Amino acid sequence: MEEKRRKVAVVTGASSGIGEAIVRLLSQNGFHVYGGARRKARLEALARETGMTPILLDVRSPESVMRCAEALPSEVHLLVNNAGGAVGLDHVMDMDESGWLDMYQSNVLGTARMSRALFPKLAGSGLGHLVNIGSVAGFETYAGGAGYCAAKHALRAVTETLRLEWLGQPVRITEIDPGMVETEFSIVRFGGDVERAKKVYEGMTPLTGADVAESVLWAVTRPPHVNVDAILLRPLDQARVDRVFRRASER
Ligand code: NAP
Repeated sequence: MEEKRRKVAVVTGASSGIGEAIVRLLSQNGFHVYGGARRKARLEALARETGMTPILLDVRSPESVMRCAEALPSEVHLLVNNAGGAVGLDHVMDMDESGWLDMYQSNVLGTARMSRALFPKLAGSGLGHLVNIGSVAGFETYAGGAGYCAAKHALRAVTETLRLEWLGQPVRITEIDPGMVETEFSIVRFGGDVERAKKVYEGMTPLTGADVAESVLWAVTRPPHVNVDAILLRPLDQARVDRVFRRASER
């Protein structure tokens, strides 16, 4: 009986970083979480720790998204579209088109696909909430960031459009836009080059996945008539996406 009353949350990109932190915090706060990603072993480890239900999911694939939606309960209260990330840091003149397509597939199309597939279950809960993880890269740009910034700008357009298209439906829509968060983001961006990734956070204090998770929890625990449109949070050491204060002693 008690299990039936728990709210159901779905978190994509649950195998690492921000998504993993969101799963932990939502589980601690009474949600039954279904966590999706491609790396099965990672999901299973998090499931053992938190009680999360793991789901193999590749948001770039319409079939995978459909299978995920079918495996979920008939009512879903919260969908956190967090799966995504960046590929490379090339200037437009050297652009790698496959990297750009991959970023669009995961950050933009993946989010739209998951939102469309889960809409009936979100609305059916009577108290649905969609949270998209955007980025300060959805507001600003930097040299080498065109592909990722374009994808996160596009994601913001999807979030804002859904708020118009779902007006009158019982589904709140929030976008959380973090600045620098130390996760596996830069390792993935640089194709597994851990040393290069470490340099991104050298001499400054980045956000943690837990900081972002706190903002998600706050947004989803407001009274049902309150829609938190967006939260933009960044480290104190970051004034703009490309303006970072680094302590000399740690350089
Ligand atoms: P991360 O540690 O690399 O985590 C990315 C997560 O997304 C992983 O769980 C990964 O799982 C999953 N993922 C990637 N592509 C996927 C796909 N096609 N299908 C399903 N899952 C997929 O990086 P993170 O920093 O936590 O990133 C999470 C989100 O925050 C991303 O949307 C990112 O753009 C955004 N963000 C990050 C920062 C930052 O500085 N770190 C700042 C602003 C916004 P699998 O590889 O197992 O599938």
